[in-house]
Amino acid sequence: MNGKIFIIEDEPSIIQLVQHNLEKEGFLVASSTNGNDGLKDLKKFEPNLLLLDWMLPDLSGIDICKNIRNNSSHKNLPIIMLTAKGEEEDKIKGLDSGVDDYLTKPFSFNELLARIKAVLRRYDPKVVSNSLEFEDLKLNRFEKRVFRKNIEIQVGPTEFRLLEFFLSNPKRVYSRDQILENVWPNNINVESRTIDVHIRRLRKSINIDKTKELIRTVRSSGYSLI
Ligand code: CA
Repeated sequence: MNGKIFIIEDEPSIIQLVQHNLEKEGFLVASSTNGNDGLKDLKKFEPNLLLLDWMLPDLSGIDICKNIRNNSSHKNLPIIMLTAKGEEEDKIKGLDSGVDDYLTKPFSFNELLARIKAVLRRYDPKVVSNSLEFEDLKLNRFEKRVFRKNIEIQVGPTEFRLLEFFLSNPKRVYSRDQILENVWPNNINVESRTIDVHIRRLRKSINIDKTKELIRTVRSSGYSLI
Protein backbone atom coordinates (compact mmCIF):
# COMPACT_ATOMS: atom_id res chain seq x y z
CA MET A 1 0.00 0.00 0.00
CA ASN A 2 1.38 3.37 -0.86
CA GLY A 3 0.66 6.82 -2.13
CA LYS A 4 0.87 10.35 -0.77
CA ILE A 5 -1.78 11.85 1.44
CA PHE A 6 -2.03 15.45 2.54
CA ILE A 7 -4.08 16.41 5.62
CA ILE A 8 -5.55 19.85 6.30
CA GLU A 9 -6.94 19.72 9.83
CA ASP A 10 -6.70 22.14 12.74
CA GLU A 11 -6.82 19.55 15.52
CA PRO A 12 -3.24 18.36 16.04
CA SER A 13 -4.41 15.22 17.88
CA ILE A 14 -6.33 14.07 14.81
CA ILE A 15 -3.39 14.81 12.50
CA GLN A 16 -1.07 12.89 14.80
CA LEU A 17 -3.28 9.83 15.01
CA VAL A 18 -4.15 9.71 11.31
CA GLN A 19 -0.61 10.46 10.14
CA HIS A 20 0.94 7.83 12.41
CA ASN A 21 -1.44 5.13 11.25
CA LEU A 22 -1.23 6.05 7.56
CA GLU A 23 2.56 5.95 7.71
CA LYS A 24 2.36 2.48 9.23
CA GLU A 25 0.31 1.53 6.15
CA GLY A 26 3.14 2.79 3.95
CA PHE A 27 1.72 6.16 2.90
CA LEU A 28 3.79 9.30 2.74
CA VAL A 29 1.95 11.93 4.74
CA ALA A 30 2.26 15.70 5.10
CA SER A 31 -0.11 18.09 6.81
CA SER A 32 -1.13 21.63 7.60
CA THR A 33 -3.28 23.06 10.40
CA ASN A 34 -4.80 25.86 8.32
CA GLY A 35 -6.23 26.34 4.86
CA ASN A 36 -3.91 28.94 3.34
CA ASP A 37 -0.70 27.10 4.21
CA GLY A 38 -2.35 23.83 3.27
CA LEU A 39 -3.20 25.03 -0.24
CA LYS A 40 0.38 26.19 -0.76
CA ASP A 41 2.05 23.11 0.70
CA LEU A 42 -0.11 20.52 -0.99
CA LYS A 43 0.84 21.92 -4.39
CA LYS A 44 4.48 21.23 -3.59
CA PHE A 45 3.76 17.82 -2.08
CA GLU A 46 1.61 16.62 -5.01
CA PRO A 47 -0.53 14.20 -3.00
CA ASN A 48 -2.65 11.37 -4.38
CA LEU A 49 -5.44 12.28 -1.98
CA LEU A 50 -6.44 15.08 0.39
CA LEU A 51 -8.07 14.66 3.81
CA LEU A 52 -9.79 17.95 4.41
CA ASP A 53 -11.35 19.22 7.63
CA TRP A 54 -14.63 21.07 7.26
CA MET A 55 -14.10 23.77 9.87
CA LEU A 56 -10.72 25.52 9.83
CA PRO A 57 -9.54 28.75 11.45
CA ASP A 58 -9.12 30.63 8.16
CA LEU A 59 -10.75 29.09 5.08
CA SER A 60 -13.60 26.57 5.16
CA GLY A 61 -13.14 23.12 3.72
CA ILE A 62 -15.54 24.08 0.96
CA ASP A 63 -13.47 27.15 0.00
CA ILE A 64 -10.42 24.95 -0.22
CA CYS A 65 -12.24 22.35 -2.25
CA LYS A 66 -13.46 24.97 -4.72
CA ASN A 67 -9.99 26.46 -4.98
CA ILE A 68 -8.56 23.04 -5.84
CA ARG A 69 -11.28 22.22 -8.37
CA ASN A 70 -10.64 25.56 -10.12
CA ASN A 71 -6.89 24.99 -10.29
CA SER A 72 -5.97 23.35 -13.57
CA SER A 73 -3.10 21.28 -12.20
CA HIS A 74 -4.96 19.89 -9.17
CA LYS A 75 -8.58 19.88 -10.21
CA ASN A 76 -8.76 16.08 -10.15
CA LEU A 77 -7.26 15.60 -6.70
CA PRO A 78 -9.41 13.13 -4.72
CA ILE A 79 -10.78 14.76 -1.56
CA ILE A 80 -12.28 13.17 1.54
CA MET A 81 -13.95 15.71 3.80
CA LEU A 82 -13.89 15.28 7.59
CA THR A 83 -16.97 16.78 9.20
CA ALA A 84 -18.20 17.11 12.76
CA LYS A 85 -21.56 15.74 13.87
CA GLY A 86 -24.60 17.83 13.04
CA GLU A 87 -23.32 19.22 9.78
CA GLU A 88 -25.57 16.99 7.67
CA GLU A 89 -26.81 19.77 5.47
CA ASP A 90 -23.28 20.98 4.97
CA LYS A 91 -22.27 17.50 3.96
CA ILE A 92 -24.61 17.58 1.04
CA LYS A 93 -23.26 20.93 -0.03
CA GLY A 94 -19.83 19.46 0.38
CA LEU A 95 -20.57 16.68 -2.04
CA ASP A 96 -22.00 19.20 -4.49
CA SER A 97 -18.81 21.16 -4.40
CA GLY A 98 -16.77 18.24 -5.63
CA VAL A 99 -15.85 16.27 -2.53
CA ASP A 100 -15.44 12.58 -3.29
CA ASP A 101 -16.50 11.23 0.08
CA TYR A 102 -16.94 12.40 3.65
CA LEU A 103 -16.51 10.98 7.10
CA THR A 104 -18.12 12.14 10.32
CA LYS A 105 -15.98 12.65 13.39
CA PRO A 106 -15.28 10.73 15.51
CA PHE A 107 -14.30 7.99 13.09
CA SER A 108 -12.20 4.86 13.44
CA PHE A 109 -8.95 4.67 11.57
CA ASN A 110 -10.06 1.47 9.82
CA GLU A 111 -13.12 3.24 8.53
CA LEU A 112 -10.97 6.07 7.21
CA LEU A 113 -8.52 3.66 5.61
CA ALA A 114 -11.31 1.80 3.83
CA ARG A 115 -12.62 5.09 2.40
CA ILE A 116 -9.16 6.19 1.32
CA LYS A 117 -8.51 2.90 -0.47
CA ALA A 118 -11.89 3.00 -2.18
CA VAL A 119 -11.37 6.54 -3.45
CA LEU A 120 -7.79 5.88 -4.56
CA ARG A 121 -8.79 2.70 -6.36
CA ARG A 122 -11.36 4.68 -8.30
CA TYR A 123 -8.99 7.47 -9.29
CA ASP A 124 -5.60 5.97 -9.58
CA PRO A 125 -5.42 2.18 -9.35
CA LYS A 126 -1.66 2.19 -9.70
CA VAL A 127 -1.33 3.97 -6.34
CA VAL A 128 -2.90 1.01 -4.57
CA SER A 129 -1.37 -1.71 -6.73
CA ASN A 130 1.41 -3.78 -5.27
CA SER A 131 3.77 -3.98 -8.19
CA LEU A 132 5.59 -1.20 -10.04
CA GLU A 133 7.59 -2.09 -13.14
CA PHE A 134 9.89 -0.39 -15.59
CA GLU A 135 11.86 -2.27 -18.23
CA ASP A 136 13.55 -5.15 -16.39
CA LEU A 137 13.09 -3.56 -12.97
CA LYS A 138 10.28 -4.56 -10.64
CA LEU A 139 9.34 -3.33 -7.17
CA ASN A 140 6.89 -4.95 -4.77
CA ARG A 141 5.39 -2.48 -2.37
CA PHE A 142 3.83 -4.81 0.18
CA GLU A 143 6.78 -7.16 0.38
CA LYS A 144 9.33 -4.33 0.04
CA ARG A 145 11.30 -6.30 -2.54
CA VAL A 146 13.11 -5.21 -5.70
CA PHE A 147 13.98 -7.35 -8.72
CA ARG A 148 16.16 -6.73 -11.79
CA LYS A 149 15.89 -9.26 -14.59
CA ASN A 150 13.89 -11.39 -12.11
CA ILE A 151 16.83 -11.51 -9.73
CA GLU A 152 16.15 -10.08 -6.30
CA ILE A 153 18.41 -7.20 -5.34
CA GLN A 154 18.96 -5.62 -1.94
CA VAL A 155 18.28 -1.91 -1.49
CA GLY A 156 18.29 0.16 1.69
CA PRO A 157 15.05 1.72 3.01
CA THR A 158 15.80 5.20 1.64
CA GLU A 159 16.86 3.78 -1.74
CA PHE A 160 13.62 1.78 -1.78
CA ARG A 161 11.57 4.97 -1.30
CA LEU A 162 13.63 6.74 -3.97
CA LEU A 163 13.11 3.94 -6.45
CA GLU A 164 9.41 3.74 -5.67
CA PHE A 165 9.16 7.47 -6.31
CA PHE A 166 10.94 7.23 -9.67
CA LEU A 167 8.90 4.18 -10.67
CA SER A 168 5.64 5.99 -10.05
CA ASN A 169 6.57 8.45 -12.83
CA PRO A 170 9.15 6.97 -15.20
CA LYS A 171 10.89 9.32 -17.63
CA ARG A 172 9.92 12.39 -15.69
CA VAL A 173 12.84 14.55 -14.60
CA TYR A 174 12.76 15.53 -10.94
CA SER A 175 14.79 18.29 -9.37
CA ARG A 176 16.59 17.64 -6.09
CA ASP A 177 13.98 19.81 -4.35
CA GLN A 178 11.16 17.69 -5.73
CA ILE A 179 12.94 14.50 -4.73
CA LEU A 180 13.50 15.93 -1.27
CA GLU A 181 9.86 16.86 -0.80
CA ASN A 182 8.63 13.49 -1.97
CA VAL A 183 11.11 11.08 -0.49
CA TRP A 184 11.92 12.98 2.73
CA PRO A 185 8.59 14.78 3.28
CA ASN A 186 9.10 15.49 6.98
CA ASN A 187 12.78 16.30 6.98
CA ILE A 188 13.71 19.84 6.07
CA ASN A 189 17.37 19.41 7.02
CA VAL A 190 18.34 17.01 4.24
CA GLU A 191 20.98 18.56 1.98
CA SER A 192 21.06 18.07 -1.75
CA ARG A 193 24.33 16.14 -1.58
CA THR A 194 22.57 13.60 0.67
CA ILE A 195 20.21 12.97 -2.25
CA ASP A 196 23.21 12.43 -4.54
CA VAL A 197 24.64 9.92 -2.08
CA HIS A 198 21.42 7.90 -2.02
CA ILE A 199 21.09 8.07 -5.81
CA ARG A 200 24.62 6.69 -6.08
CA ARG A 201 23.75 3.85 -3.69
CA LEU A 202 20.56 3.10 -5.57
CA ARG A 203 22.45 2.97 -8.89
CA LYS A 204 25.00 0.63 -7.41
CA SER A 205 22.26 -1.68 -6.10
CA ILE A 206 20.24 -1.89 -9.30
CA ASN A 207 23.11 -2.03 -11.81
CA ILE A 208 23.81 -5.71 -11.53
CA ASP A 209 26.21 -7.35 -13.96
CA LYS A 210 26.71 -4.31 -16.20
CA THR A 211 23.03 -4.01 -16.93
CA LYS A 212 21.73 -0.87 -18.57
CA GLU A 213 21.93 2.32 -16.49
CA LEU A 214 18.34 3.19 -15.54
CA ILE A 215 18.80 6.43 -13.65
CA ARG A 216 19.68 9.39 -15.79
CA THR A 217 21.44 12.47 -14.46
CA VAL A 218 20.06 15.56 -16.16
CA ARG A 219 22.59 18.35 -15.86
CA SER A 220 21.42 21.30 -13.78
CA SER A 221 17.93 19.75 -13.57
CA GLY A 222 18.04 16.56 -11.52
CA TYR A 223 17.37 12.91 -12.11
CA SER A 224 14.93 10.68 -13.94
CA LEU A 225 14.28 7.00 -14.46
CA ILE A 226 15.72 6.92 -18.02
CA1 CA B 1 -11.75 21.75 12.63
